[in-house]
Amino acid sequence: MRLHISVLIVLAVLLANGGRASAAPIPVVLNFDSNGANSFLNAIDAAADGVGLGAAYFPAGDVAGIKTAIQNELTNVYNGFNIQFTTAPTAGARTETFADPAGNVFGLAPFNWRNAFLPNTSSPANDAAITAQIFSSNFGPSLSTAAGTTVAQNEARLAIGIADTGAHELGHTFGLDHQDDYGDPRITPANYANTLGIQNTHIMASGVSGLGNDRSTPRQFSQLELAKLAQSNNVYVANGFTPNLAPDAGDTHTQLSTAGANASQPLNFKFVQIAGESVVTVTGGTIGTAGIHDVYSFLGGAGSLLTADILAFSAPFEDDVATGKFFNTPANTLLTLWRLNGGNPQVVAFSSDKQYSGNKWLSGVETDADPMILNQPLPVTDTYFLDVQGVSTGNYEMFVSAAVPEASTWLLLGSGLLALAFARRKLAATETG
Ligand SMILES: [Zn+2]
Repeated sequence: MRLHISVLIVLAVLLANGGRASAAPIPVVLNFDSNGANSFLNAIDAAADGVGLGAAYFPAGDVAGIKTAIQNELTNVYNGFNIQFTTAPTAGARTETFADPAGNVFGLAPFNWRNAFLPNTSSPANDAAITAQIFSSNFGPSLSTAAGTTVAQNEARLAIGIADTGAHELGHTFGLDHQDDYGDPRITPANYANTLGIQNTHIMASGVSGLGNDRSTPRQFSQLELAKLAQSNNVYVANGFTPNLAPDAGDTHTQLSTAGANASQPLNFKFVQIAGESVVTVTGGTIGTAGIHDVYSFLGGAGSLLTADILAFSAPFEDDVATGKFFNTPANTLLTLWRLNGGNPQVVAFSSDKQYSGNKWLSGVETDADPMILNQPLPVTDTYFLDVQGVSTGNYEMFVSAAVPEASTWLLLGSGLLALAFARRKLAATETG
């Protein structure tokens, strides 16, 4: 009998190790010299020439140092994540190229949601099939032409511009999208009308968010970018972390008002240390009948910032095609955040589409058909409902995060399987600041 128990324990350990084996670092091969004639030196010399610095501006002997500076900045930006940057060819690895023949953009990359699947497929993405491209010859605007600027200073500027854009394109291949740069706790409804450029301090910033062509100022991941990366397969594994996924329960939580609270699907959040907030992602969302409401519930603490981002349409090839759809049959949805309010439900926030441009959230030119609620403060501690109304049938997924302000001491979180009382978390105790 004891032997049997031991065997079971060994099996359990083996299974656990089998699961952990996928936590091996994700290699990203930095390919600086693409396709023979397209050398990195030629590309950056073209960039310098394009802004009037001369045809052979960068000494050939400096190239290795510039490449190292780019690799160091990429490593710095992805610090804490399970990514390993290398210049050595690695079988089966995803690649980032820096000297392909230039398009008229800074970079291109496929959008690989949750590091799990590419548009219009449910199959796991093949790393070897994923290539992010940086067009180094277009980074002339990151160089300074001011009198007295040294070559070394411009090499440093160029390395930041190329590396942070490289981090951006790779971000797409791990599931990040352009709106994620607005996911900073300093951007709330109070300053949706003028964000003062906070979004452009973050990696997923783009021309649409108001980032200029001079990319030489270092950027970092926003809180939302960090949280979404942690919800991507194998990207964040600190302390055994795995993505917190909640499969849609189907067309069974469809009440038309939040009064029928027992019909909602409870969401159970999980704290992400590196992002300092708690997350859950609804997967396999389906609207089987037009007009139904998929309703999710959770307990939220007063002052928490709630973000909910639907993915159904989005863009199939980021930084290339501005319109398109992620799922073959994307569900057109409306998203409403309710609070129970003692049985007299109140709407806290509503979104029909994503819209942002420059320093404006909820207005401007960039729109996709998927709704998003961004950093909405929860007014009181209460039961909350995220109501995904299906205007049309189809597929969707929904990322949800709840951030606790520094001054707040706790957040109540709902649980699908445990009694709600067990779901209390004193998150501030685990925050690193
Ligand atoms: Zn992009």
